[in-house]
Amino acid sequence: MTDDLTRLTAAQLSAGLRAGEYSSADVTRAHLDRIEQTDTALGSFITVTPEQALSTATDVDRRRAAGEELHPYAGVPVSVKDVVVTDGVRTTAASKILEDWVPPYDATISSRIKAAGLPVLGKTNMDEFAMGSTTEHSAFGPTRNPWDTTTVPGGSSGGAAASAAAFQAPLAVGTDTGGSVRQPAAFTGTVGVKPTYGSISRYGIIAMASSLDQVGPMGRTVADAAALHQLLAGHDPKDSTSLTDAVPDFLAAVEAGARDGSLTGKRLGVVNQLSGDGYDAGVQAAFTAALDLARDAGAEIVEVDLPSLSYALDAYYLIMPSEVSSNLARYDGMRFGLRVEPESGPVTAETVMAATRAAGFGAEVKRRILLGTYALSAGYYDAYYGSAQKVRTLVQRDFAAAFEKADVLVTPTAPTTALPFGTEDDADPMALYLGDAATIPANLAGIPGMSLPAGLAGGMPVGLQLLAPAREDARLYEVGARLEALVTNANGAPVWAGVPTEYAAPAASTTTSA
Ligand code: GLN
Repeated sequence: MTDDLTRLTAAQLSAGLRAGEYSSADVTRAHLDRIEQTDTALGSFITVTPEQALSTATDVDRRRAAGEELHPYAGVPVSVKDVVVTDGVRTTAASKILEDWVPPYDATISSRIKAAGLPVLGKTNMDEFAMGSTTEHSAFGPTRNPWDTTTVPGGSSGGAAASAAAFQAPLAVGTDTGGSVRQPAAFTGTVGVKPTYGSISRYGIIAMASSLDQVGPMGRTVADAAALHQLLAGHDPKDSTSLTDAVPDFLAAVEAGARDGSLTGKRLGVVNQLSGDGYDAGVQAAFTAALDLARDAGAEIVEVDLPSLSYALDAYYLIMPSEVSSNLARYDGMRFGLRVEPESGPVTAETVMAATRAAGFGAEVKRRILLGTYALSAGYYDAYYGSAQKVRTLVQRDFAAAFEKADVLVTPTAPTTALPFGTEDDADPMALYLGDAATIPANLAGIPGMSLPAGLAGGMPVGLQLLAPAREDARLYEVGARLEALVTNANGAPVWAGVPTEYAAPAASTTTSA
C-alpha cells in the first residue's frame, strides 16, 4: 500500500484524505520511504526533514479526526527548493557559503504551506543560487534525471522536478528566474509554472535577480500545479512587488478545460522565432505532433512574430548578472553564513569578505558576479544595463502585439531533451545560456508560462511551453488541462506514468560535487 500512495496525484491524495481512505501519516511515510529508497541514486534532496513532515501529518490527522475545517490539500506532502527560507531548517541555496545556515524565520510561502497543513518532506537540490540549467552547479552534488540517470534533470529546480517525476513528492515548489521551473519540468516529463511576476510572494526567497525571480508550482499534472499555485499565491505586504489583485480560481480553470475537452475558439500562437532552426528534430517532431492534436481538437493555430527576441537573451544575461552582483553582496562573511579569515596578513572587513567569497562561491556564481559588476560599473551602466532595460520594454511590446492575435503562445520549452552529465564542465557556458532562449522572454516581460509534456523523443520527455498575458495565468491552466488530456503515451497513459521507477546506484564519475 505504501508504494501505491506515492503513485497518486495530489488531487487524488486530497480526495482520499478527505474521504478517510488513509491518513496523512500514511501518505507522508510512503513518500519518505520512497525518498529513502531512491535518493542515493537520484540526489533530489539536500536535506530531508522526516520528523517535521510526520509531525505536521499527525497534527493534520488529529485535527481532521476532531472535525476541524482544513485546507483541501491539508496532509498532502510537498518538497521545497532549498532557496526558500525555512525557520529552523537549514537553507543552503546549494552553496557552500550557506552550508550551515539555519534561518530564524520563514519565507511567506513557508508560512502559507504550514498554515495549510502540507507536510514538507525536505529541501530540494538546485544549481547554486539558482544559476544554471542542469543542477550540476550544486555544492552538494548533482541530481540525476529519473528518466535516464546518465542525464541531468535540468535546472535550476532540478531536485524539485526529479522529486515530482520520481514519485518522491506529489507537489514541488521551485523558482524560475529565466526558466528554472519550466526547463526542468520539460526534462522530467512534469508540469511547471512560472506565474505572473508578483503572483507569489518573494519574501524569504533567497534572491538571484529580483526583477525576474518568481516562485513556481510543480507537479505531475496541470491540476496539481494549479492547486499548489492557488495555495501559494496572494498579496504579501512584505513583498513590495506583490500583486494586490484577488487570486483567480486556477482549479476552476482546470475544470473548465477538462470538462469541455475541445479547444474550439482557442487561438494558439506559434512563435516563429522559437521553433524550427536550432531545435532538435525529435523535440520539433513532438511539438508539431502536439499542435496537430490541438488543431484536431478545434484550436486555431496562428503564427506570431516576436522580433525583439533576438536581443532578449543578451538583455537577460546583462540584467540577471547585474542584479546578482548586487544581491549577492550581502554574503560578506560578517553577518551570517560562512566566514573565512585570510591565511596571512591583516584581518579586516575587506580581507574576510574576499577570503569568504573566494572559498564559498562556486565558479558559475563568481562568473556572474564578475559580469554583473562590470556591467554596472561607472561608464558602462547606460551602455549595458540601461540598453538591456530598453530591450525589456521592446519584448513586452512584442508580446502585447502577439496576444492580439493569439490567446496563448506555444513553443518548445527547450531546444533539446535532457542533456548528458558533464555539460557544465565544458569550456563554453554560452551553449547552455542559449538553451534558455524560449524561457527567458517571459521573465523579462513578467508574463506567466507553463511547461507540460508534449510527448517523448528518443524515450525522453519533451516540454511544450504555453505563455499568456500578465495576470492571465488561468488561461495556462485551462488550455494546459485540455492539452494534457490530448497528449498521452502510446498506451493512452499520461507521459509522466512512463518514467522508470527503479534506479541504479550512481556511477562514481557523476557523484563528485561541482
Ligand atoms: N538557466 C537560467 C540561468 O542560468 C535560468 C536560471 C533560473 O531560472 N533560476 O540563469
